[in-house]
Amino acid sequence: MATVGASVPTLDTVREKVEAGDRLDFEDGLALLESDDLLALGELADLARRLRGGTDDVYFVQNLYLNQTNVCRVKCKFCAFARTAKQEGAYTISIAELVEDAARQHELTGFTEIHMVNGESPHVTFEWYVETVRALHAALPDVHLKLYTASEIHHMSTLSGLGYEEILRELRDAGLGSLPGGGAEIFADRVRRLVAPGKEHPDRWFEVHDIAHRLGLPTHCTMLYGHVETYEERVDHLLRLRDQQDRTGGFLAFVPLAFHPENTVFERRGWAFTSGAEDLKMMAVSRLLLDNIPNLKAYWIMMGLPLASVALHFGANDVQGTVVREEIFRAAGSTIGSEQKIDELVRHVKDAGRVPVQRDTLYRELRRWE
Ligand code: SF4
Repeated sequence: MATVGASVPTLDTVREKVEAGDRLDFEDGLALLESDDLLALGELADLARRLRGGTDDVYFVQNLYLNQTNVCRVKCKFCAFARTAKQEGAYTISIAELVEDAARQHELTGFTEIHMVNGESPHVTFEWYVETVRALHAALPDVHLKLYTASEIHHMSTLSGLGYEEILRELRDAGLGSLPGGGAEIFADRVRRLVAPGKEHPDRWFEVHDIAHRLGLPTHCTMLYGHVETYEERVDHLLRLRDQQDRTGGFLAFVPLAFHPENTVFERRGWAFTSGAEDLKMMAVSRLLLDNIPNLKAYWIMMGLPLASVALHFGANDVQGTVVREEIFRAAGSTIGSEQKIDELVRHVKDAGRVPVQRDTLYRELRRWE
C-alpha cells in the first residue's frame, strides 16, 4: 500500500522501471489498471514482453476439451455448468465411453493435448480418477493429459483421505502430464466468500500447485475477473501468483478469464460482460506484473478470435488451442463456435503481424507458418 507522501506511479515511471528491468510493485499494478490510456498500456506490455526475450512467435496447441461430469457439490455463484446429480442435464460419462470418444476425435483431428476439468461429484471415487487417467494414457500414449484443477485435486483428497502429494504422485504415475489453472478465481478471501463460498481456501490452490511443481508436474494459472472484485484484489491475485512462480517456477502460462454472467445468478442481478477494452487492459497488466511467467494466453474461445488477435499487441503470445469441445463457457452463453480450424487461427495470428507456431503443451515447437 502507498505510504503517506509517496508519489503515485504514472505510466512514465512504470515505463522507466520496465526499461530498467525492475520489478513492478502493487502500486504500479494499481496505477496501470486505473489508467485509461489503453494504447499506451498495450505498447508498454509489448515492450516488456520483448525486453524479456519474447519474439514474434505466437503459439497455439491442437487440443481436445473434455468434461467427464458436470455433477458438482460446490455451487459457485458464477458457474452455469454444474448440476446436482438429480437435476435435468446432469451427466457422468463412463471411463470406457470417454476413452472411446477421445480416441475417435484423435483419429479425426490428431490433437496433441486433452484438457479436462469436471464438476466435483460426490458420487465418484479417487480410483475413478486414477483409472480415467490410466485408460486415457493407455489409449493415447502420445497425447499430453492436462487434467483436473487444484480444486478437483482437493476434492480427491476429501474423497480418499489421501494428501495432495500422494494424489498427485498416483495421477502422475498413471499418465497425468500437467494441471490446468482453474479454480483460482480471485484469491482474496472477501471475493471468495461472495462468489464461491463452498470452495476450499485459496491457500489450498497454492499448496496443490506448489507440490505439483516440486514433483515435476508443470501447471497453468488463471484469474476469473469482471465480477465483484476490486482492482486491488486483481493486483493482489497476480502478485500472489508471481510469488509462487519465484518459489517453484512451474507455471507454464497465465490465462486471464473474463467472467461470463449468462445463466448465472449474476445475470439476474444485471451483471454485464466485460468490455473489450477491459479485457485488453487486463491482458497488458498481467504481462507487466507477471515478469516470471513466460506465456500469456488470449483465450479466444472466451474473447473471440478478432479480439484475441488484438491482444497479441497487449502482451499475449498464445491463443490457446483449436478446441474441439468445450462446454463450461458455452453453458454460460459463449456463442463462439468451438471447432475453429487451424487455418483460421493462423490467419488471425498472421493478420496481427505475428508468426503462428503450433506447439505441444510444454511449448515445444511442432510446426510454424513464416
Ligand atoms: S466452477 Fe467448478 S467447482 Fe464451482 S460449481 Fe462450477 S463445476 Fe463446481
